[in-house]
Amino acid sequence: MNGSRQAALHEAAAAVARARFGRSVFVRAVVEVSNVCRENCAYCGMRRENRALSRFRAHHDQLAELLIHHLPASVTDINIQAGEDPLTVREVVLPLIRTLRRETPLGISLCLGTLPPMLYGELQVAGAAIYIMKFESADPASYEQIKAPGTFNQRVNHIRTLAASRWKVSSGFIAGLPGESPQHLVRDLHLAENLPLDGCSVSPFIPGEATPFARCPAADVNWALNCMAALRLLRPDWVIPAVSALNLAERDGYRRGLRAGANLVTINLTPGDLREDYVIYKRDRFIMTEERVLAAIAAEGLSPSRQGLVEHYRNGTARPGARVTEPATS
Ligand code: SF4
Repeated sequence: MNGSRQAALHEAAAAVARARFGRSVFVRAVVEVSNVCRENCAYCGMRRENRALSRFRAHHDQLAELLIHHLPASVTDINIQAGEDPLTVREVVLPLIRTLRRETPLGISLCLGTLPPMLYGELQVAGAAIYIMKFESADPASYEQIKAPGTFNQRVNHIRTLAASRWKVSSGFIAGLPGESPQHLVRDLHLAENLPLDGCSVSPFIPGEATPFARCPAADVNWALNCMAALRLLRPDWVIPAVSALNLAERDGYRRGLRAGANLVTINLTPGDLREDYVIYKRDRFIMTEERVLAAIAAEGLSPSRQGLVEHYRNGTARPGARVTEPATS
């Protein structure tokens, strides 16, 4: 869908977002703490079989200094992200959460892949409240084709386990994977709507360098944008991010995401010496710096939310039966 029907869809989605959230968007920062990954997703440059990539694990002290003393004033939340690397979770992420909980009021989100339930529990007790677990594709055959972690059913079970354990859970899928049709997007939307989620992202498929999909065509960014708008109409209460890959797919993609109902932006604070090896798609990443993020939201007539994500969830948009854990004090 494009042209006037698409414009009407996006305008309707944006209107629903403004009615629910006003002209505020949540501003979080992300730090990418390790590109070591035991998985082998076919679309990702950090897959374990990419032996050309220099692997890193960040140091707690470097990240703590950055996040405690050099955080942009607009940031209310931090997302700690890594490849699937339990060693990093134990040696970097857990100590970092405890430090941030002690030293800052930041809401803490995690995107660390599938972990043992006991480790999810330790992360929650340490003070994290939001877990991002993307299902990538709602079609089990596609899920297998892209070699995403475990099986489709296992992934969905992890999402349900997290949600049942008082995490606020955000998921996500890739629009336009090789071989997929618009029917797959309908399944993605249907699954997202029926999982116990509090938010969901949509990323356009970008053929990653050094991956089996390197020669596949990039997705039409309109597929991702239309799915974002559809999600907003399905779930007015959700937190829906504008992902940086929108700008890789199209020069104006990020701002178009904000016009299609997104209400979360992310500033990349990964130290520069590490960032270039965090390669999901390609080395030539479109880094969403503070300046770019704030310029994009200002250009759309939006402003940073004073309320953080975790605070927002705590103040009463919880799913039936869900509850946000109070951050542990240490
Ligand atoms: S998408 Fe995530 S789990 Fe899959 S290979 Fe990349 S970093 Fe690892």
